[in-house]
Parts: sequence; C-alpha cells; structure tokens
Amino acid sequence: METQKKIWTLAELEEIRKKAKAECWKKRNGICNLGPVEMYEHEGGEFVEGYKEKQWVYFTCSHCNYQWALWKILRRLEEGARI
Ligand SMILES: [Zn+2]
Repeated sequence: METQKKIWTLAELEEIRKKAKAECWKKRNGICNLGPVEMYEHEGGEFVEGYKEKQWVYFTCSHCNYQWALWKILRRLEEGARI
C-alpha cells in the first residue's frame, strides 16, 4: 500500500516550533528558544509546500545554538516530553 506523502506547510512548521520545548543544553533550567524554520535540500528530509525537492527542516536554539531537526522535535512531541 502506498503511503500518502506528507507535505508540510510553513504554518504547520511554525505551530510545531511554538509547541516544541526542550531542556536547553547551555542553560540547565532553561528551555530551548527555537528560531524560525530553516531548511536545505536533502534526500532524507520532508516535503515542504513550495519546494520541489525534499528539505531537511530544522530550528536553531538562540541560547545553545543546537539545531533541532524536525524529526527529533516530532519524536519528542509524540513522547509527550516537556510540552
Ligand atoms: Zn537551547
């Protein structure tokens, strides 16, 4: 059975960014402050509205500079971690 390919919209990605909370690496009692969505072309990435090729989607924390890949954030949200 063919799986429906998910095409992310920028609005959806913004919602994800707002929901995602993770302990910040540099500030032990802080929460990562994710910047705007960023992406580049990558075969292992996701389809995003307006882009023909798959994109590697990520958000950079302004405190610790960690780059949170979208898949990693989604996994955290699924696990119910620190939302
Ligand atoms: Zn951080």
